Amino acid sequence: MSEGFNLDDAIRKVPGFPKEGILFYDITSVLANPDAFRYCIDSMVRLYKGSGLDAVAAIESRGFVFAAPFCDRLGLPLLLVRKKGKLPGRTISASYELEYGRAEIEMHVDDIPSGGKVLIVDDLIATGGTVKATIELLRRGGAEAVGVFSVVGLPYLEYDKALGDLPVRTLIEYFGE
Ligand code: AMP
Repeated sequence: MSEGFNLDDAIRKVPGFPKEGILFYDITSVLANPDAFRYCIDSMVRLYKGSGLDAVAAIESRGFVFAAPFCDRLGLPLLLVRKKGKLPGRTISASYELEYGRAEIEMHVDDIPSGGKVLIVDDLIATGGTVKATIELLRRGGAEAVGVFSVVGLPYLEYDKALGDLPVRTLIEYFGE
């Protein structure tokens, strides 16, 4: 196990991407660093092993990368939350506000476990808008979101306001520039 790892050093920070005024926390530098990536997956396993999850819903696309090895380690079904138009089967969709305009996400409704407890996984949580829309999809599919895991949290963007009492676990938090 990789205790005491300095994850901050492994995250690339890119000011002005994708537009002026945004500091982008880039996790591709974590993926390119096997020790950092293993630390993330080990930490997820430590946090959720034995917690009674039935499935994991991973948000496109960086959430997939963390959720897939985690699901393999814990033997859990992996459900993909994709941008509209990518999934070939029977879907349900939800749209939500972005800073500019709206976005729409979808899930394969037949893969959602009825009455199941589902963990939502993404790389970074900011306003919580994407996660909130995912919670809604799971609810409509007959499952319950029981928690959120994100490698990076930006609490100053107030994701807690969007998510109410749902427990959110992150490995590192940033509090503005
Ligand atoms: P939100 O719905 O506001 O919580 O935004 C979360 C989604 O946007 C995640 O899928 C992130 O990958 C991406 N995102 C938002 N802000 C940033 C940021 N400052 N750096 C990197 N990714 C971000």
